Amino acid sequence: MNLDSNIPEGPLAEKWSNHKFNMQLVNPANRRKYNVIVVGSGLAGGAAAASLAEQGYNVSCFCYQDSPRRAHSIAAQGGINAAKNYQNDGDSVRRLFYDTVKGGDYRAREANVYRLAEVSSDIIDQCVAQGVPFAREYGGMLANRSFGGAQVSRTFYARGQTGQQLLLGAYAALSKQIGLGKVKMYNRHEMLDVVKVDGHAKGVIVRNMVTGEVSRHAADAVVMATGGYGNVFFLSTNAQGCNVTAAYRAYKRGAGFANPCYTQIHPTCIPVHGDQQSKLTLMSESLRNDGRVWAPMCKDVAQQIREGKLDPNAVAEDDRDYFLERKYPSFGNLAPRDISSRAAKETCDEGRGIAASGLGVFLDFRDAIKRDGRKAIEERYGNLFDMYNCITGADPYSTPMMIFPAVHYTMGGLWVDYNLQSSIPGMFVGGEANFSDHGANRLGASALMQGLADGYFVLPYTVGNYLAAQGISKAGTVTTEHPAFAEVESDVKSRIDALLSVNGTESPRSFHKRIGQIIWDKCGMARDKEGLLGAIKDIQDLRKEFWSNVRVVGDAHSLNPELERAGRVADFIEFGELMCRDALMREESCGGHFRVEHQTSEGEAKRNDDQFTFVGVWEYQGDDVDPALHKEPLIYEEVKLATRSYK
Ligand SMILES: Cc1cc2nc3c(=O)[nH]c(=O)nc-3n(C[C@H](O)[C@H](O)[C@H](O)COP(=O)(O)OP(=O)(O)OC[C@H]3O[C@@H](n4cnc5c(N)ncnc54)[C@H](O)[C@@H]3O)c2cc1C
Repeated sequence: MNLDSNIPEGPLAEKWSNHKFNMQLVNPANRRKYNVIVVGSGLAGGAAAASLAEQGYNVSCFCYQDSPRRAHSIAAQGGINAAKNYQNDGDSVRRLFYDTVKGGDYRAREANVYRLAEVSSDIIDQCVAQGVPFAREYGGMLANRSFGGAQVSRTFYARGQTGQQLLLGAYAALSKQIGLGKVKMYNRHEMLDVVKVDGHAKGVIVRNMVTGEVSRHAADAVVMATGGYGNVFFLSTNAQGCNVTAAYRAYKRGAGFANPCYTQIHPTCIPVHGDQQSKLTLMSESLRNDGRVWAPMCKDVAQQIREGKLDPNAVAEDDRDYFLERKYPSFGNLAPRDISSRAAKETCDEGRGIAASGLGVFLDFRDAIKRDGRKAIEERYGNLFDMYNCITGADPYSTPMMIFPAVHYTMGGLWVDYNLQSSIPGMFVGGEANFSDHGANRLGASALMQGLADGYFVLPYTVGNYLAAQGISKAGTVTTEHPAFAEVESDVKSRIDALLSVNGTESPRSFHKRIGQIIWDKCGMARDKEGLLGAIKDIQDLRKEFWSNVRVVGDAHSLNPELERAGRVADFIEFGELMCRDALMREESCGGHFRVEHQTSEGEAKRNDDQFTFVGVWEYQGDDVDPALHKEPLIYEEVKLATRSYK
């Protein structure tokens, strides 16, 4: 597998501008001869499809929702980072770059992260031009707030609906191109496989989710922006539809899968309240600007609260443990997510957790309301408070929120080089679907930044460069008549038939819950060798059971959500095994990957830089064959590797 990262020569700060100059261009008149497929219409895919079409390429864009506006990106609450330094508080491209590399526990590729920080300001300009209603100060300047892992305020936001507003901006740009006929939008179409011709990605096979029709689509390049795979855990803050299928099928066709075990557990989510629950709800990290995280100092007090015998407001100041402020005084409540989540887990493991299950801690706004007044807090977080109130029935203005860590984001993804090209030439990957910029832990408000950086400012250059290098004589030459399309289409249909013909007794959803439980227990917030070895075996057994006992009701020729779910769950099961293998291989703790065997005496993650400063990239070798591990060494020229400290 070719893992050349194609990082351009030259000083870090000049790499992207030099590279842009050196890349080949496609003459505007020739662009209309090329077809590009974009799978995904969230922030990354929507931005890429709109920008490529604006440049003149013919774009076909696919999503499984009934509208691009419903992509999971719409759920993003808190904000988007950019190194504008509007606050004059010491921010810069270099600081955003540095914070991101450090936040990722030194497991991200320097050059990609620097470019991300560099284009961050352009994103804000682009979105303002589109009319995105970012919050503003009294004088009209865009407002900022702070997010975890940073000591500056660089997060732009639109109350607690930043993703929605950004997505409406991208959707407007996309709609313009749909109206002009430059983007053909395929809503309710699920990509089920990639087609390669002479080793290059040249198309996809999709299923129309309403009619069941399976169809072939050819193009000169394929962009995948299909989001993250957090739902492998069953319970997560992700939208119900999020899945790994597109990425996993690409993996099975030869795309390397990088760092699959790097998942992010977000510290501030509403605790699980029952075993029939199918979704968890995030309480945005922005709340930690004003909310203080605490748990009772001693177990007795915690127990009284759990039993409903003590009102948390009645707990005396001395009996409260503001554990993030105590353990990480410099960053306090804005310690990064991996660290804050582990601290909450530790507190609950000690028996000091609240909520009926004991799996919860408080996020308290009492002091902020006293200081700034209820109105100010309402203005900042009103919709989040309402959401909390609707779900729990409790009023967070008068009683502290209860929160607990939950699965939220996946840093792993398809391996890409500096051009965001996967190990399948001609297949590019953007947004959460790639592994590129966040290392072993993503900082808050950096996913929206990355998705839009990829979609608006990176892919439009690098896809063009690839097409130009292929030569104009090749434009549009591969059609769906090529035998490779018939072959892959037949594989897709056989798999659908196989799912429908098992005719067992257990629902796909039940299998989803079971794989989720294994992954949460053994490959969740803490992992160890014994647990991971056991999980691999359990997952292999579960996979056999799935294929002998799953019951998929309905047929293939109409709307069939059970069939869709079954296909996704089958992929989650196989993918879960890959996650465990990756976690087992990585004999260190870094970011969200916490191997209990590798921790400091204070319980912090202990990296092993000598042996593990690399990206772990897995290559599919066959259904019952172990995947091959490849390593892309991470070379740090600018940042000095150090023990990550937020104390
Ligand atoms: C509750 C919540 C709040 C968040 N808040 C923030 C925040 O404040 N700031 C921040 O930076 N990040 C936040 N994030 C993370 C961020 O929202 C996501 O990482 C980001 O939106 C992902 O964008 P994307 O374009 O990569 O993928 P998505 O928005 O998930 O879009 C994926 C697209 O791919 C399509 N797709 C997938 N598979 C297929 C297939 N097989 N066939 C066809 N189409 C397919 C989908 O239809 C969809 O259009 C939050 C995440 C959650 C869960």
